[in-house]
Amino acid sequence: MKKKAMKYRLIKILCVGIIFGALIGMLLMGLSGRARIKEVREECKTTEDKLKKENEQLQAEAEKAKVQPSSEAIAKENAEKLASNDDDWSLVLINSESPLDTSYAPSLTKITDDYSVDSRIADDTKKMFQDAADAGMSLNIISAYRDYETQRGVFNDTMLNWIYQGKTPLDAYDETKQSVAVPGTSEHATGLAMDITSSTYQELDDEQENTDEAKWLKANCANYGYILRYPTNKSDVTGIVYEPWHFRYVGKTAAKEIMKQGITLEEYLEQQKDGK
Ligand SMILES: [Zn+2]
Repeated sequence: MKKKAMKYRLIKILCVGIIFGALIGMLLMGLSGRARIKEVREECKTTEDKLKKENEQLQAEAEKAKVQPSSEAIAKENAEKLASNDDDWSLVLINSESPLDTSYAPSLTKITDDYSVDSRIADDTKKMFQDAADAGMSLNIISAYRDYETQRGVFNDTMLNWIYQGKTPLDAYDETKQSVAVPGTSEHATGLAMDITSSTYQELDDEQENTDEAKWLKANCANYGYILRYPTNKSDVTGIVYEPWHFRYVGKTAAKEIMKQGITLEEYLEQQKDGK
């Protein structure tokens, strides 16, 4: 009986041992299985990331390979659009990437003895100056229509000035480009742009914005189809520094929208394209 009890006890211990061992084994297998799943998941993620990156690179290359229209083609197209009487002639975009054919010559109307604008905007422009005068403003025109050769002269003079101040020609060119449009990329050649200051403060610098005249223009220009073309903090979009004196005619509908939103012509045209 004693022997039998011992045997039974041994079997019991053995059984418990086997069951316990099996449990631990299962637990360990479960853990390692889970670790493996995690590993596989991470491997998948790495592969996915790699493929995504490769795809992005391929797309960027494809984008680059797309044939961009030449700047000459854009320049011609801009000149044609401006010369046409299509609805959007006044919305032509002129900047460093969208130049204007150097032969473009608008039909001009004098608004003072010295300055002319595109004849199609003469009435609106004259009205703006008349209303400004009636409101007690004393506006002073610094520049209006400038042909290609005049623009070249302005650009060269500004660049020379920087060279006299000790800049290398290359640095002088870069510096000039910030404030004077490279000939062929100036809005002044369209006959749709004007530089206007206060008569009492005629400097072309940031302080201009503090004059009553600049404030009046900013608040009212859209009513006559004009916009403040190079707003502050928008140089990254326009490529031109803040110019509180440079106004561009775009037509009343666009002007009101642009000034209301505080955006640039570039941004407005993007919105139009997106159908907003
Ligand atoms: Zn200007």
